[in-house]
Amino acid sequence: MNEALIIVVSGPGGAGKGTIVQSLIERDSQLWLSRSWTTRTQREGESDDAYVFVTRDQFEERIAGHGFLEWTEFLGNFYGSPVPNVEDGRDIVLEIELHGAQQVKATRPDAILVFVRPPSREEQQRRLQGRGDPEHHVVERLKKAEDEERQGAKIADVVVINDDLELSLIHI
Ligand code: 5GP
Repeated sequence: MNEALIIVVSGPGGAGKGTIVQSLIERDSQLWLSRSWTTRTQREGESDDAYVFVTRDQFEERIAGHGFLEWTEFLGNFYGSPVPNVEDGRDIVLEIELHGAQQVKATRPDAILVFVRPPSREEQQRRLQGRGDPEHHVVERLKKAEDEERQGAKIADVVVINDDLELSLIHI
């Protein structure tokens, strides 16, 4: 099998990674969206297939079996991208936070990293609060964002500011 192209979409919480990923997938049927595993509990109203929701034991078992392309602990929960198993000819899209993106870039330097930034901290805060996460998570994510944006810019192939979606996609 030819090695698939890996497109990583990363950026701080509330940057708008999900909207960009959804648009990419809708526009190109060759793209295959990786479904992450997480130990986080499902949010109210969140779709059942947003993640594979697993226990910590199940997650740790998969780590031990080298079943993740990358994984990380984020705000007390584990998140990981299973080693992809895709049909030949399809390219892979991962929507992950920065630590995971750094791991993918280290093992697959040919991966393309699209780093998404929110238009402003105020807008980022508004988006995060709209998700129903506890307020202390919102505060932690906002605090992390400056550093993530600095680190992300160092390894990104493209930096996109997700203000107006059509405009964002032009830069990709
Ligand atoms: P949330 O709990 O809001 O769904 O996700 C928290 C953060 O983890 C987001 O930045 C999200 O993109 C990231 N994330 C989701 N899946 C993965 C994954 O498989 N690996 C890594 N490294 N981060 C992930």
